[in-house]
Amino acid sequence: MTCRVRSLMVLALILVLTHGCAKTPETQRHAFFAVGTLVEITVFDPPENISEALRATEVALLAEEQRWRAWGNGELAEVNRRLSAGDTVELDAALLAGINRARDIAARSRGHFNPAIGRVVEAWGFNSEERPVGPPPTDQTLVTLLPPPSLNALRRDDNGHWITDDSRLWIDMGAFAKGLAVETAIETLQANGVRNAIVNAGGDLKTIGRHGERAWRIGVRHPRGNGVLAALEALDNESVFTSGDYERFFEWKGERFHHVIDPATARPARGVTSVTIVHADAALADAAATALFVAGANDWQATARALGIDKAMLVLDDGRVMLTPDMQSRITFEDMKMNVEVIAP
Ligand code: ADP
Ligand code: MG
Repeated sequence: MTCRVRSLMVLALILVLTHGCAKTPETQRHAFFAVGTLVEITVFDPPENISEALRATEVALLAEEQRWRAWGNGELAEVNRRLSAGDTVELDAALLAGINRARDIAARSRGHFNPAIGRVVEAWGFNSEERPVGPPPTDQTLVTLLPPPSLNALRRDDNGHWITDDSRLWIDMGAFAKGLAVETAIETLQANGVRNAIVNAGGDLKTIGRHGERAWRIGVRHPRGNGVLAALEALDNESVFTSGDYERFFEWKGERFHHVIDPATARPARGVTSVTIVHADAALADAAATALFVAGANDWQATARALGIDKAMLVLDDGRVMLTPDMQSRITFEDMKMNVEVIAP
């Protein structure tokens, strides 16, 4: 199934949960493809210039997509090619700001979030738009990529240009750029007078304001099957981001290999099927979902503390759900008999 088809299914889930507002005159919707998925913007009580606001937001998101594409014809791809050839590069303000934020989060993530592992992602074939079919890379290949560089391998030379001494550095913001893009979309809407909206990028989203009398209501997808795991109330200025082993994966000899990589092993992280984070900062929520996925059942609490995350939920591959008390107070499970453990971070 293609990414787009899967995104449409996630969208359908969100629509189910917001059906009460689907056709009311106070709600306006706009959907388009950007940042590798279907983006749907829902605005409640839209201002008069709403068409302009939506157009500006779409343009801003397409620019983010172009900026952060790490392979092919993206801005970051060009930076990566030059760095790995030993050349110096200039980083414009937007690239530098995003990379600095990613570096800061990576430094606090107990090694679980590392946007410098593009070469590992490529070895597994997750750099292409198409889903890889295997085989998985050999041990010999992975050994040459361990330990992977961090973003600290990027440095300024004596002339103030950016350069790296590690030819294996390949910056991949795949776990973070959607969060940056969603932040940009919300800022663009707000700059155009929108006060109540959801920006939903394939199930990862941020809300501002309310849906009239009530908070925005969100469906969190079940990591297995196409149903809803839980419903969540999102308040003003909240992001909900999920990392799952179902997003991008291939099967080889009966084993599932997915796209969330443990930087310590250069292999897909084991034990978790999905992580959902709620936080004001969409970029942090995106990175933290990936970091806690890699951290797994034993290290997610320490990682959440280090990243300042108080609303987190993990679904483990044995079906157990672990979540923080602050997440529990927000969430209603579809299946009341779920094996749920509430654990303070
Ligand atoms: P989603 O695609 O569901 O948003 P993530 O936010 O977890 O999933 O991002 C996964 C992508 O991030 C991968 O495709 C890869 O490009 C990159 N990535 C994988 N593992 C890591 C990691 N440990 N740290 C940083 N980036 C990663
Ligand atoms: Mg992420």
